[in-house]
Amino acid sequence: MLNPVARILLLGSEPSEYSRLSDLLEPSCEPQYQLLWCERHQSGLSEISSGNYDVVLLDCVHQPDISLTLLQEITEQGCKVPIVALTEQVGGPIAKQVMRLGATDFLCLSKLDSYLLERCLSYAVEKYETDKKLSELSLYDPLTGVPNRVLFRQAMEESIERAKAEQAPLALLLINLDGFKKINEIYGSEAGDQLVATMAERLNHCVRKSDCLARVGADEFTLLLEDYENKEDVALVAKKVIDVLSNPFMVSGTPLMVSCSIGIATYPECGDTVDGLLRRANMAMVQAKSQRGSQYCFYNEDTGADALHRLNLEADIRRALRRNEFEMYYQPRVALETGETVGMEALIRWRHPERGLVSPNEFIPVAEESGLIVSLGYWIIQQACQDIVELDKVSSSTLDVAVNLSFRQLQDSMFVETASRIIKQSGADPTRLEFELTETAIMSNYQETYEGMMALSKLGITFSLDDFGTGFSSFAHIQRLPISALKVDRSFIKDVVSNSEDAIIVKAMINLAHSLDLHVVAEGVETLDQVQFLWQNYCDQVQGFYFSPAVSAKDMSLMLNQRATACM
Ligand code: C2E
Ligand code: MG
Ligand code: MG
Repeated sequence: MLNPVARILLLGSEPSEYSRLSDLLEPSCEPQYQLLWCERHQSGLSEISSGNYDVVLLDCVHQPDISLTLLQEITEQGCKVPIVALTEQVGGPIAKQVMRLGATDFLCLSKLDSYLLERCLSYAVEKYETDKKLSELSLYDPLTGVPNRVLFRQAMEESIERAKAEQAPLALLLINLDGFKKINEIYGSEAGDQLVATMAERLNHCVRKSDCLARVGADEFTLLLEDYENKEDVALVAKKVIDVLSNPFMVSGTPLMVSCSIGIATYPECGDTVDGLLRRANMAMVQAKSQRGSQYCFYNEDTGADALHRLNLEADIRRALRRNEFEMYYQPRVALETGETVGMEALIRWRHPERGLVSPNEFIPVAEESGLIVSLGYWIIQQACQDIVELDKVSSSTLDVAVNLSFRQLQDSMFVETASRIIKQSGADPTRLEFELTETAIMSNYQETYEGMMALSKLGITFSLDDFGTGFSSFAHIQRLPISALKVDRSFIKDVVSNSEDAIIVKAMINLAHSLDLHVVAEGVETLDQVQFLWQNYCDQVQGFYFSPAVSAKDMSLMLNQRATACM
């Protein structure tokens, strides 16, 4: 049943045909069709394109040549309205030709009756509606209901054209969920789907109607912003997105913390084509990902050079691992109450054949992003354990060793098993080992980190929260973890003596840690004033250049022996 009244356009033809067809379509008291007539072929195309009609009846009897040419034009223009051709004979050459030229159906004008005409029109309209729905379906993501990659491209092409014509800016945000593959593996793809659907819902709520949101990959969304003043406005939207996605998601009844990385490319600075902008947004997204989750990055000229540099660096790290160019250095941790060295932090160094010692700040992010940190991390644990055993042989003190763990290492499903095996084989006492994790690392991957930490703490390994104060963390979550120490980030210690706000924060951090039964370690202690402030405020341990920078294992053992001799 057609609902409401279908609008039929008769194209070409003559007045007598028009009135005959009108009569044929009006036998019932409730009209289902409204027949309109356009006599002139020249106006045919614009009439059809107006979108006012549900079906076109093209008269191919009275002026067949003109009608066929028009039909061809209609098809070439991509008009989707169904065309029913009116022909002279059922099986004549014209009938065949109209079908070839793209007509939906044909009717023999001389044999036409009311029933036949109505049936043919009703079929054409229904098919048209179904086709429309199907093509809509292929433009929208069935899971989230937002436009898919195809529609996104179309929309973006139009936006670029508009931006060019109006000399307006345009920003493309590529939003990628961190660790989605792992979520799918652990909780199943249904849970993954649920997460993506909720993600789309939240994104839809936090953007304006005019901002075009689309799902372009399993865990990837794009957002097109057209109406903004400056870069800060775009950054605000990115921050808002990170914010709404950092609230816990309920997945299979479990609250899950996820983070996302956002790459931003702007028109005209980053290009004027869909692919160019997408590629650059992707590079910026990769850069954001290397910054440990919940970050956004704008593409700039350095991003491209950076991507290349990273690629080279990645190959260099691989080679360095094979050639044994890495070394572990150790920085002492001093207990303020006794003034004794009670532990040390293992810090990696790369002795590059041409560049000399390379800072971990330069290569750890690349190792994390490329996944190389997993094998490098095993080497670090193995070396630290070996050094514990060696130091014990030459020194009387039994120091704890803290090893930095990166967020990617706990994502390796074999981590607990492999790390346990390495520690066991080295002969080092696991209770002397501490793993340092940052808040961001824990929160970006809470559930897995939690499980890994619980399993490792059963072996006697302890944990500390590194760079405390710089990342986002939920205390409700942190409290459930087997953490025994907080390491106050050195940015708070730097001006603690001169800046009263920093002093208040550090005191609060110490109190907070103690109320949770945790030790406090201050990082980056460089002056006696800082040591005194920390001692007066009951900080447990300090680490920093005031006592010693990180030194090689050999120098560390010399240092310990010197201290032991001095005490005798
Ligand atoms: P972190 O874990 O917070 O390490 C402390 C950093 O502060 C070290 O830098 C240390 O040398 C530096 N530092 C210590 N005392 C002072 C001081 O008094 N003043 C100043 N200005 N700095 C001080 P480093 O060794 O360059 O390491 C930087 C970061 O690289 C580390 O920060 C850690 O996040 C990462 N890293 C280093 N080694 C490893 C490793 O073996 N594995 C992993 N996953 N990350 C590592
Ligand atoms: Mg550390
Ligand atoms: Mg630190």
